[in-house]
Amino acid sequence: MNMKASEIDDEGNWHNGTEVIPLVGEVIPIPSFVTHKTDASEEAEILMLLQTKAYFEICPSCEQKLPDSQIVLATEHLFIMPVKCCDTIIWLQSQWGDIDREQYA
Ligand SMILES: [Zn+2]
Repeated sequence: MNMKASEIDDEGNWHNGTEVIPLVGEVIPIPSFVTHKTDASEEAEILMLLQTKAYFEICPSCEQKLPDSQIVLATEHLFIMPVKCCDTIIWLQSQWGDIDREQYA
C-alpha cells in the first residue's frame, strides 16, 4: 500500500486508480522511519477521521495555509495527515508533535 496524499479525499477515501477504499477501518503498514522513532507497531488500524482545523493552520512540510477541509486519520498511536499542497503524507505522534514525514511527490 503506497498511498499518495493526493489520492486521499476529504472524506478519508483512498482513490488508488482502480477502486475507492474507505480508510477508516483499514489496517495499513507503518513505514519503518516511523516505527524506528516511536513505539508504533508495523501496522495499525485507522480508527477515525478528524479535522485538523483546531490544531494546524499551516502545512508542517511546506508552510502553505491548509484548507479548512484538511483531515487527519487517527490510529491508536499515530496521526496521518495527507496534505495536498505538497502531496505529502505527514506522520504525527499523538501529542501532535511532528515526528517525521515521507515525501511521495
Ligand atoms: Zn505542504
